[in-house]
Amino acid sequence: LKEKRVVMEVYAAPLYRGEAKFGTIFVHRDVTKQAEVDRMKSELVSTVSHELRTPLAGILGLAELLLNKPLAPERQRKYVNAIYQEAERLTALINDFLDVQRMEAGRQTYRWEPVDLVPIIEKIIDAEKMGTDIHTFSVLVETKRTMIRGDSERLRQLFANLVHNAVKYSPDGGAIEVRVYEQKGCLCVDVRDEGLGIPAEALPHIFEKFFRVDNSDRRRIGGTGLGLTIVKEIAKAHGGEVTVVSEEKKGSTFTVQFPLAPVPQEVN
Ligand code: ADP
Repeated sequence: LKEKRVVMEVYAAPLYRGEAKFGTIFVHRDVTKQAEVDRMKSELVSTVSHELRTPLAGILGLAELLLNKPLAPERQRKYVNAIYQEAERLTALINDFLDVQRMEAGRQTYRWEPVDLVPIIEKIIDAEKMGTDIHTFSVLVETKRTMIRGDSERLRQLFANLVHNAVKYSPDGGAIEVRVYEQKGCLCVDVRDEGLGIPAEALPHIFEKFFRVDNSDRRRIGGTGLGLTIVKEIAKAHGGEVTVVSEEKKGSTFTVQFPLAPVPQEVN
């Protein structure tokens, strides 16, 4: 049985007949939903203050410099570019954050249909190839059954996050390999890189919201710390799961497993 926390509100009122109390009436109200909404609201407020302030402070500081000081055109361009990048980061953060909130609250709607994972993965790899010439990419498909019941847009998001991380966290280049295979009734996809790897003490936390490994190698690599949370939520919604094996300075392999149930052909 899945454990579920229930929050109850209890009102008690004495019952009188004339002066004489003859009982108490209890009203029990299940306020679990409300409590969850309250929790999410306060989380949103604290996230907004923590995570959005830094890029906003950067934007304000740079804009102030531009407004108050006559600057050489080259310097002006540099500052405007920095503002643009900070604003882009904010947009990504807000979009990712809203996605996570929706998914965690079970409010993300999924369009279920039979989906072939291979073309989705190939498209993502083709797009990533354009942005780098120090990585080599390969897609190995070792099974004929590559269809699952899923939402193609969300699956694209899942694999885009994994492949993008593989590139991002291999700053010196290397091989990036995606392998699609069947194992114990599941369809599995490995995304393997030869990059920085993840320290053992960080491994249990990497799927947590806003968690980022902090060391000098990575400080310059941008990100929101939400990509893997989104990966985990999407895998879960598909009845699957995501695991990772990683060794520092050697590389990482993320594995997503989907149940290989017979794919119904109707779309619902
Ligand atoms: P971010 O936006 O920081 O990339 P993610 O949720 O995608 O957020 O990842 C969380 C952290 O896990 C990253 O900050 C990074 O330190 C680590 N990580 C994720 N993928 C990889 C990878 N392929 N190789 C090494 N480290 C990774």
